[in-house]
Amino acid sequence: MAEKPERLVVDVQVPLDYTYNYRIGSFLERYIKGLGDKKILGVKCPACGKVAVPPRSFCGACNKPMDEWVEVGPEGTVENFTIGHVKLDRGAVEKLDDPQLLAMVKLEGATVPLLAEVKGLAAADLKKGLRVKAVFKDPAEDSLADLSHFEPVG
Ligand SMILES: [Zn+2]
Repeated sequence: MAEKPERLVVDVQVPLDYTYNYRIGSFLERYIKGLGDKKILGVKCPACGKVAVPPRSFCGACNKPMDEWVEVGPEGTVENFTIGHVKLDRGAVEKLDDPQLLAMVKLEGATVPLLAEVKGLAAADLKKGLRVKAVFKDPAEDSLADLSHFEPVG
């Protein structure tokens, strides 16, 4: 009877750094083109009336096809938020000098909140119900990052 080979345990770190190219689809493409024009577009469900941002082809609530495009925002309300104190970069954890503020923003005319970064205020001032407005990159770069972040209104 053969002896079981001793299991070899080696701590190997393999950094993974891939570049992906993939078709984003017509809905996201139209959304990104809208951001380049400083417009936030969503789609409305013909059955239940939900307005999804970013747009998607089927309603998450009732699974009906959605194809009625509507402009939403650019202002909205913070529904919930989190405060990040570290940055993750390919497995490395880096402490941030200033915390990163991430919020679920319900845009005017939308029924589904959008996850976005909020800037221009102290972490202690980020609250549920805060009114915020979109800040777009100028010039646009034809990417989701053209909606740069949100900042407090007024
Ligand atoms: Zn629906």
